[in-house]
Amino acid sequence: MKKLVARLSFLVPTSWLSTAYLFERIDILSADAATCDHEWHVVASILSSVELQVHCYKCNTYSEVPDPSKKEWDESYNAMENPYPWRDHSRIRYYQNERADQNFQPLSRLN
Ligand SMILES: [Zn+2]
Repeated sequence: MKKLVARLSFLVPTSWLSTAYLFERIDILSADAATCDHEWHVVASILSSVELQVHCYKCNTYSEVPDPSKKEWDESYNAMENPYPWRDHSRIRYYQNERADQNFQPLSRLN
């Protein structure tokens, strides 16, 4: 039902909707990241770690591509203004998995 309302909300002018709802709508309509057939776009280059940041528009997930080649790094220079598709999924390092690992605490430690 929420999804249906969210889809129908595209028929009314954006000015009728609250900003909060516009953001909520992105979440409602986003695909589930775990099952998403990701479509990555390079959206930024991360200077501090020399990595490309990629974003999946379908599920709204961010991840990164470590160790870009010189050519890939140079190409990412304008990615923030002009995102472009990234096709080599094998080189994507998922933020989500990493974060889950960092937060993982064996139950025995809590006792
Ligand atoms: Zn995705």
